[in-house]
Amino acid sequence: MLETVRERGAVSRADIARVTGLARSTISNLVSELQRDGLVVERGDERDVAGPRGGRPPVLLTLDPTAGAVLGLQFDHPVIRVAVADLDHRILAEAERELNVDRDAAACLEVAVELVDDVIARAGVDRERLLGAGVGLAGPIDTETGRVGSSTIMPGWVGIDVVAELERRLGLPVHVDNDANLGALAELVLGAGRGASEMAYLMLAEGIGAGLVLGGRLYRGAGGTAGEIGHVLVDDQGPICRCGNRGCLETYAASGALLELLRPSHGRLTLARMVALAVEGDPACSRVIADAARTVGVVAAALCNQFNPERIVVGGKLADAGELLLGPLRESVRRYAIPAAADRVEVVTAALGERAELLGALVLVVGQSDRAFLGRARTAVGR
Ligand SMILES: [Zn+2]
Repeated sequence: MLETVRERGAVSRADIARVTGLARSTISNLVSELQRDGLVVERGDERDVAGPRGGRPPVLLTLDPTAGAVLGLQFDHPVIRVAVADLDHRILAEAERELNVDRDAAACLEVAVELVDDVIARAGVDRERLLGAGVGLAGPIDTETGRVGSSTIMPGWVGIDVVAELERRLGLPVHVDNDANLGALAELVLGAGRGASEMAYLMLAEGIGAGLVLGGRLYRGAGGTAGEIGHVLVDDQGPICRCGNRGCLETYAASGALLELLRPSHGRLTLARMVALAVEGDPACSRVIADAARTVGVVAAALCNQFNPERIVVGGKLADAGELLLGPLRESVRRYAIPAAADRVEVVTAALGERAELLGALVLVVGQSDRAFLGRARTAVGR
């Protein structure tokens, strides 16, 4: 039961019954026991971003937020973000610094450690209470080795054992995952994916990736690269991709390809500027985003046929375009997925914005801090 609360954040007694298969009466007894031992507390559903669903809001159970603290670290392009949070994923302090994350891994790790010292000091958190750190990287992570799984996607990080390096520097257990998986975790537990059991999170920005949730859990695949939809083939005669293949989805719909299309007419734009212009009504920028959305929709339709998700949550900086992106994406899903799968899926915008991956790193570490946390739990309940 504790594992369910750790992994899913705030859950109702009904959620626990569904996930664990335990009888209501058993859950009721266990909850009282855990509340008495101060491991689990009750709170209302004030953070339900999905809005009211009718009826009385359920009482939610969370870990006692004060039972420990966790760190989240995100290595993005071109910024490092660090946060310290309680066990209910509430950020107590955060900091960020700009740096070229792709190139020099050692320098990035040093900066990250400085930012960690900074947030711990500002939040007034005792180091002894830290249970671990969750880390997000903008590249595929090999789940067995903890290393970046592709030399062409994060060249400065090849051969670096991120987990070991950070565990040595921080003196804490470290869990690492890629940005799309962490975005999926954050949206599942805290954002637009709440309550979903089968879900895909699409991250559309400088790169394209997906985080897949199957049976309420993040699905990483055999080696941690599940959901790499950015490198799904769209046209085998298409442009050469950074992965070495050609005609991948990224060569048609990642921000670099879109900005290149606008170069002759608009000069050098940033992704944020292109999205802002599109929202203001610039026809060329809207057109480029709509075309990209259609292509992403073709791949999303295949995902619907294969996994039959109930919800597709669209995040990443391109998602700031709102309906300009979601409309054509939905249209493609309707056109190319089988009707039974297309009818069953809702395509929605992510709720957590650019902090999704950092929040996901916090969700990851709370969910994985079993050694420290369950050790404490067993001591507390006398087993
Ligand atoms: Zn590729």
